[in-house]
Amino acid sequence: MQTPIRIDSRFPHMGTTIFTVMSRLAAECGAINLSQGFPDFQAEPALFDAVHRHMLAGRNQYAPMAGMPELRQAIVDKVAALYGARFDVESEVTVTAGATQAIFTAIAAFVRPGDEVIVFEPVYDSYVPAIETVGGTAVYAQLKFPDYAPDWEQVRRLVTPRTRMIIVNSPHNPTGSLVTAVDREKLAELVRGTDIVVLSDEVYEHILFDGERHASLCGHPELAARSIVVSSFGKTYHITGWKIGYVVGPAALMAEFRKVHQFNVFTVHTPSQLALADYMQDASRHLGLAAFYQEKRDFFRDLLAATPFELLPCRGTYFQLASYKAVSDLPDRTFAEWMTREVGVAVIPVSVFHADGHDDRVVRFCFAKQEETLRAAGERLRRL
Ligand code: PMP
Ligand code: GLN
Repeated sequence: MQTPIRIDSRFPHMGTTIFTVMSRLAAECGAINLSQGFPDFQAEPALFDAVHRHMLAGRNQYAPMAGMPELRQAIVDKVAALYGARFDVESEVTVTAGATQAIFTAIAAFVRPGDEVIVFEPVYDSYVPAIETVGGTAVYAQLKFPDYAPDWEQVRRLVTPRTRMIIVNSPHNPTGSLVTAVDREKLAELVRGTDIVVLSDEVYEHILFDGERHASLCGHPELAARSIVVSSFGKTYHITGWKIGYVVGPAALMAEFRKVHQFNVFTVHTPSQLALADYMQDASRHLGLAAFYQEKRDFFRDLLAATPFELLPCRGTYFQLASYKAVSDLPDRTFAEWMTREVGVAVIPVSVFHADGHDDRVVRFCFAKQEETLRAAGERLRRL
């Protein structure tokens, strides 16, 4: 259909998210899709039974704006049990339509036009567009290949009177690196005495390997007092398509968050919230996730060890980075496309998470897959 409107795009340089691009290409080529992060296995029937039960019981109308009280209570109890901070059920937790909405809403609630937001590159792809949509400016700190650890001296140099927010993400997508307890201290030192809000993306909070403990900002009282902490049930319970997540934070910050949330989504699918509240009662379901994914990580790393890919460390998340220098000297985007078309395994090029396209010749594999999927991918990769 034609439109008579002359479009002066607000976002002339914004393309389509790499996750859509690569999943579409994988489908077109019939490639094994290890690009976009989602499991190819089912969640437990108990979760689906619970949704059905709540639907039949008539729990089908709007939930309260902040989320169903049962789910808010379950979240607050889990956070207290794991990280020692007890948030108030009424005023300090909000259920969101996934982490993406939570992140966008938090940015819109705090960042004014002209404000600066410090992010770490490689940076998850939704942060900067959200910052720029509300008129803020992203300021880039680096997590450098191959260990992707924050350089707090660099971050200190980037802080200005305009810095409104710092966004941290641990376990980190795409690198699988972690914010340690020492990093947490350095961050606390850096923001002490300022009005900087910290947005902490902890969607992989339950997926850490080799006995590592998640250094949630909820577990650091000084940082918790100035942070919005985000998580997502999509990652934890293998239901990325449900798009349900949550944020916790001090009441004064949450009040600002809700000012935007109420007119952004207002509220989230009621029976699913009730089902999640039931499902969360058994803590082994989220506590068992680390061991579950560690087995997959190790299985996949063993498969890749028989290929020319060079594995990088993976301390958390369900993503494995690998250098392909021994396979090709193509730029990573071209390499990812070639892999999808010619090798039949779709991956994510890591340069897309850099504003300037910085390319270390590294790609990301998602190992949240059944063993047979990983094995089939391994067979194709071994032929390289
Ligand atoms: N943050 C990170 C680091 C992610 O990896 C993802 C999704 N993979 C999200 C946010 C978005 O989560 P959701 O699907 O709940 O919107
Ligand atoms: N976060 C997921 C990933 O990193 C994808 C989510 C999305 O497609 N927006 O692959």
